[in-house]
Amino acid sequence: MIKAKVLGSGDSAGIPVLGCQCLTCKSLGVRKLRPSIAVFTGQNWFTIDCGPDFKEQTLTYDFSNFVGVCFTHAHLDHILGVPELRDVARKQNRRLTVYLTKETHEMLLKRFPDRISLNSLNDDVEKLACVLINPFEDFIVGSVTITPVLLRHGAQKTTGFRIGDFAYCTDANFIPEETLDRLVNLKNLILDGGWNKNSKDHFGIKDAVLVGEKLRVKNLYLTHIGHEFDFESFARIAPSWVSILEDNQEIEIDLAR
Ligand SMILES: [Zn+2]
Ligand SMILES: [Zn+2]
Ligand SMILES: [Zn+2]
Repeated sequence: MIKAKVLGSGDSAGIPVLGCQCLTCKSLGVRKLRPSIAVFTGQNWFTIDCGPDFKEQTLTYDFSNFVGVCFTHAHLDHILGVPELRDVARKQNRRLTVYLTKETHEMLLKRFPDRISLNSLNDDVEKLACVLINPFEDFIVGSVTITPVLLRHGAQKTTGFRIGDFAYCTDANFIPEETLDRLVNLKNLILDGGWNKNSKDHFGIKDAVLVGEKLRVKNLYLTHIGHEFDFESFARIAPSWVSILEDNQEIEIDLAR
């Protein structure tokens, strides 16, 4: 069985926010790590993004069949776990593979110049083997076909990933028409929706729900949830098919879309 496991459903700060005394951080007991999921293909596993909580999120996982990471974009809450990958690669004594667009590759190269390589012949295990991907051009990890789709995130482009009847689209405030075409017949969609109102970079609850309605998804899960999220009014107004994504939640993926 193929499944996604949620490693983190929080925003760039996670919940609780360090030093914050607000009701959500202090009293509600909400805990959300930085946004990322793991996908188990049956043969191996990989993550989508690798943020600052990567080590905590994967401490109990078996890395012997870990492939690497598909990156959505290069904002810090999605990439700060990259240095941890060196330890995994050293222990496994093999290079890990990362799948990313040209733009994300350029930004990662600036931030981690000693960790990134495009040269597949490089035998330094500490260098991540980069596979460049293009929006709407399928690629394969293990035996699983993944469709990368283009999302807008303020001035930035991000990549969403569709696998069978499931898609993970974090960090977005607009979905282009050609992407919507690729997201039809989804059962489960994880979508950025962690703001009470639309922001310049992120969907608010209302617009995220509109996307879900337009695509007629069976289940919509909102991610990138911050401590200002209004959990009480969400519980009152959310349609039954929309919920807040939870850390450690598992979602089955059916490849026959
Ligand atoms: Zn983010
Ligand atoms: Zn707070
Ligand atoms: Zn971002």
